[in-house]
Amino acid sequence: MFFFKISRSQTCKPRSHNMASKNQKNKPHVFFFPFLAHGHMIPTVDMAKLFASRGVRATIITTPLNLPLISRSTQQSTLLGLPINLLSIRFPCAEAGLPEGCQNVDAASSYSMMAAFFKATAMLQEPLEQLLREHHPDCLIAGSFFPWTTDSAAKFGIPRIVFHGTGLFPLCAGDSVTVHQPYKDVASDSDPFVIPNLPGIEIQMTRMLLRAFLMSNEDTFLSRLFKAEKQSEVTSFGVVVNSFYELEGIYADHYKKVLGRKAWHIGPLSLCNRDQNEKSNRGKQASMDAGDCLKWLDSKKPDSVIYICFGSKSNFTEPQLKEIARGLEASGQNFIWVVRRGKKDEDQDEEWLPEGFETRIEGKGLIIRGWAPQMLILDHKSVGGFVTHCGWNSTLEGVSAGVPMVTWPVSAEQFYNEKLVTEVLGVGIPVGVKKWVPVVGDYIEEEAIVNAVKEIMEGEEAEEMRNRAKKLSKMAREATEEGGSSYSDLSCLIEELVGPSD
Ligand code: UDP
Repeated sequence: MFFFKISRSQTCKPRSHNMASKNQKNKPHVFFFPFLAHGHMIPTVDMAKLFASRGVRATIITTPLNLPLISRSTQQSTLLGLPINLLSIRFPCAEAGLPEGCQNVDAASSYSMMAAFFKATAMLQEPLEQLLREHHPDCLIAGSFFPWTTDSAAKFGIPRIVFHGTGLFPLCAGDSVTVHQPYKDVASDSDPFVIPNLPGIEIQMTRMLLRAFLMSNEDTFLSRLFKAEKQSEVTSFGVVVNSFYELEGIYADHYKKVLGRKAWHIGPLSLCNRDQNEKSNRGKQASMDAGDCLKWLDSKKPDSVIYICFGSKSNFTEPQLKEIARGLEASGQNFIWVVRRGKKDEDQDEEWLPEGFETRIEGKGLIIRGWAPQMLILDHKSVGGFVTHCGWNSTLEGVSAGVPMVTWPVSAEQFYNEKLVTEVLGVGIPVGVKKWVPVVGDYIEEEAIVNAVKEIMEGEEAEEMRNRAKKLSKMAREATEEGGSSYSDLSCLIEELVGPSD
């Protein structure tokens, strides 16, 4: 368990780009083009707000149905005096074979829909370039799943910066596994192997925890996309990372010095949201009134509530949901549990809940069906633990809130994030997931849930984890304040783009 101290010099190198002189007197204009998933749009909106707060003109590009999700939080920032422009481009559902209205990854519910979704995103190149032609921004910060945006930006002589939406540890670990293929050296899918060429403590994985398509030679849309994404990471101007140096310093250094990437860590981005409205207006409309949620939390003792949420995409089977319900009840803890299901009939018991569950847990547990104001909840003093699927945003929001975590990864790079939380930082306990599964999580039994929840909520070890988590939270806040590591790295990035301010 260690935290990173700043050891490198934070000097900026303004670049000689023709944009620099053009905009020295005016505000530089940055286009933000997030991938169409909540886990990318939410931090990108935060990033645009952060840039706007530092004197940059920020414009976010998205599609019509994603626009209202984004404008909910940008309206708030306009009220606070930091206007952000929004531009919309048509999403070609029909041309890609998608049902009308499928403009966000959370609506693509099968592999074939995902393939069609990525096909549609590639068709956004022409309309994006039209906007670049009309608006002449100075820089394009685009999601990593839009690898073609590097070429688009080059056509207009502006830099493209990549936003992966993940951290430095998972970027370094993922790169090592892709390049060195250590999974080839073990006999079975459950045999452990060490991730080579990674600084810090030894990290072990198994083949079962890796994305299957990475280990296969099959030519699929995912393998092609992944290769193009890696390639554009190298050919783009650089990578902007939602993290902070004190959290992942040795991996930040490794990413830059050993892997040779140009990168700026400017997070946690979520910390740009300071008041209640800003915190509760991220992503979708919350299914529970933020005030009611706070009132419920206010009635609980400090650090006595565990918050359970698996992000915007992950799902579970009904038997698994029932097992989670039993586990939460048996743990004896207060809880807020976010379930991505609506209630069909007020008077009917739902099949995914044990009989009489809601009556028994009244006053002790709260189920939010749909979307929760996550940041608001995590930041409340009564919340003392977080069961998370380890999406990068949730992981960093947990770190920023200073709560220990039960890690329950499902897919994407979440198994690397689990290792960071549990083994590198020592602020979490794994629930024991053994298999990477696309979207619908691996099965975990009640007993494992009870044990993991108790381990982060009760006893001496929980207290030690909580103390470490609170220290990290303090460091996260300091990093984003004037003079902090993330604040300074953002200054460096802006200077590189437009030259030093007079
Ligand atoms: N989120 C939220 N309420 C919910 C579910 C998710 O506010 O009910 C937010 C969460 O705070 C985070 C984002 O959605 O900012 C999810 O991103 P993450 O990387 O954690 O997971 P993903 O959804 O991409 O798997």
